[in-house]
Amino acid sequence: MSKVSEILDNKGAMVLSVDINESVLDAINLMAQVNIGAVLVQEGDTIAGIFTERDYLQKIALKDLSSKETRVGDVMTTPVVSADPTDSIQQCMETMTTCRCRHLPVVHDGNLLGIVSIGDLVKRMLDEKEAEVEHLSQYITGTY
Ligand code: AMP
Repeated sequence: MSKVSEILDNKGAMVLSVDINESVLDAINLMAQVNIGAVLVQEGDTIAGIFTERDYLQKIALKDLSSKETRVGDVMTTPVVSADPTDSIQQCMETMTTCRCRHLPVVHDGNLLGIVSIGDLVKRMLDEKEAEVEHLSQYITGTY
């Protein structure tokens, strides 16, 4: 099974983030513009936390808080659980299952290399399974 770094090779290293002092409205505007479910929250050069659609639902919408007046730093989740680029897809899935989350920044030696979502992992796994089935059927039918 491939490594998470291979997903980043295809997907790229772009990670969208907001500053810890920005408002939740700024964060959700960014998420809506680029159609993503999570942003990292930075404090200077450091990853301070993560803010996802679920945080918005539970900590803003259900509590009837103002997204314009709430600082993203006050409702982010911290600390952030991350993956190493050498982690396998399966290891990342296990990490997500354990932390009940769908987003993992990929970090090596303190450097942020990218972020993967559960959707990226599932797509990669399905692509691999498809290639495996193709390979086996060519082997069985002698067209290998
Ligand atoms: P998600 O399923 O990614 O929307 O996240 C569910 C909850 O886990 C939210 O409270 C997120 O802030 C939190 N969360 C998501 N990803 C991570 C992560 N990599 N590390 C720590 N918490 C996370």
